[in-house]
Amino acid sequence: MNIVHYLDHSARVGPERPALYLGPDLHATYAELQHRVQALAGHLVHLGLAPGDRLAIYMKNRPAYLDSLLAAWYAGLVVVPINAKLHWCEVDFILENSGSRLLISDRSPEAPLPSSAERLDLDAPDFVPDGHPLGAPVDRAPSDAAWIFYTSGTTGRPKGATLSHGNLACMANCYLTNVDRVEAEHVLAHFAPLSHGSGIYLIPYLMRGCANLVPASAGFDESEFAELVNRHTGLAMFLAPTMIRRLVDHLRARGTNLNLDHLQAIVYGGGPMYERDLREALETFGPRLVQIYGQGESPMTISVMDRDAHSPYAASKAPSGPDSQSLVPVGRPHPQVEVSIRDGEGTPLPDGQEGEICVRGDIVMLGYWNNPEATSEALRDGWLRTGDIGRMEADGTLYLTDRVKDVIISGGTNIYPREVEEVILQHPAVHEVSVVGAPHPEWGEEVVAFVSLHRPLDPAELDQHCLAHMARFKRPKRYRILESLPKNAYGKIVKTELRQHLAQPQEESAS
Ligand code: AMP
Repeated sequence: MNIVHYLDHSARVGPERPALYLGPDLHATYAELQHRVQALAGHLVHLGLAPGDRLAIYMKNRPAYLDSLLAAWYAGLVVVPINAKLHWCEVDFILENSGSRLLISDRSPEAPLPSSAERLDLDAPDFVPDGHPLGAPVDRAPSDAAWIFYTSGTTGRPKGATLSHGNLACMANCYLTNVDRVEAEHVLAHFAPLSHGSGIYLIPYLMRGCANLVPASAGFDESEFAELVNRHTGLAMFLAPTMIRRLVDHLRARGTNLNLDHLQAIVYGGGPMYERDLREALETFGPRLVQIYGQGESPMTISVMDRDAHSPYAASKAPSGPDSQSLVPVGRPHPQVEVSIRDGEGTPLPDGQEGEICVRGDIVMLGYWNNPEATSEALRDGWLRTGDIGRMEADGTLYLTDRVKDVIISGGTNIYPREVEEVILQHPAVHEVSVVGAPHPEWGEEVVAFVSLHRPLDPAELDQHCLAHMARFKRPKRYRILESLPKNAYGKIVKTELRQHLAQPQEESAS
């Protein structure tokens, strides 16, 4: 089944129900959205696009994004979402690699498009859909590709994780059974880019006939977030942990009153949630947080930490203290997903032992687009090797320690940056931290911490803090203070950039 069938279902059951808000205002009912999607799908067919062709979308979160996404699926096309913050040369690589035939974008290209691709701007004043509106979605099998998500490419070129209609339907079912209760009155707000998790989270909400909301700013703005929460009821959203941090800081600094009764859920993931930040988020938003762990290759769906599992971090509970063992877990695997912790040879490890997190099930991608080598490296004997290190306890609680590639090996011992970061963040002067390994002639690597601060601080004080709370060999040997830490288009701190930073001479403090 084509996943866009959910649109038709909801338009039949509740044609007058709100389907899309633009900021505070209603933009389309379900009947109107279906009508627009059918007309645009007809136009795409009229342009000569055939089922299985790739259609790229490079745009901020705007109503035209949803039209394009749904119309592409309606016409049986494969959507290639491109983050609106990417540079034009990165866009060019993705268009070329995916062999996209059409680029829907409201921006004029800054370089010639690859010869296979043309551009369509739905907001051009003279645009009117041509051809006959499609009466029904083009048939798709569960194994047909629907969405190619290009990984952020922190090592080498980005790879296109290819997800099928079956993968996305599995994701939607996991969401509805294990992440959050979804009622028709709920509204899914897209503050995070539609080109990532927020875009595919639209599917379970479409199934239930809920409205989507795109902010008038077309992205994430802290003041607008507060206004929209106070304006709409039943708001649910996906946010990266760094966005939650920004919201907490903003709301505290302004003393903004939020009507928390309007907030249904904040689902977060995509990067580590540190214990300190989680406690402050729960204090600000109450018991509305749900954590998910997934990756482009197993979209948004490996494990989930539900509301109840957050209660040990609530304000009333004492903090566990700056202890490097106090990692916040990433919840428990979805029942629909098999998770196994394995060693480098692929042998399963016992409970409690650290190894690579491997995943199997209907959620796992078809492979990387046009990249058989990378596919066979990632998919072995039916298992997806996530590149994440973690451990699972006997009761199924999963801990994600770090990325395989970020582990620091110093003097032959593994040091997990995440553990060190948890401790440093407990210092009240620290705003953000990221720990990386720097080459060292004697030890192989040494631990270096990049920090941004709330107030000036002597790194010797940070060293004392680390000495008091972690094994000596794990503590950073050097500190670099930055104004703010570099983030990628999805708000994740980019460790590769920090490592490059190390190559540049700069004043730093040794401990
Ligand atoms: P992406 O494919 O861009 O969504 O990135 C996926 C990666 O982000 C995963 O392999 C993890 O390393 C990281 N990640 C995702 N969810 C979480 C989480 N809840 N906690 C910590 N890291 C996460």
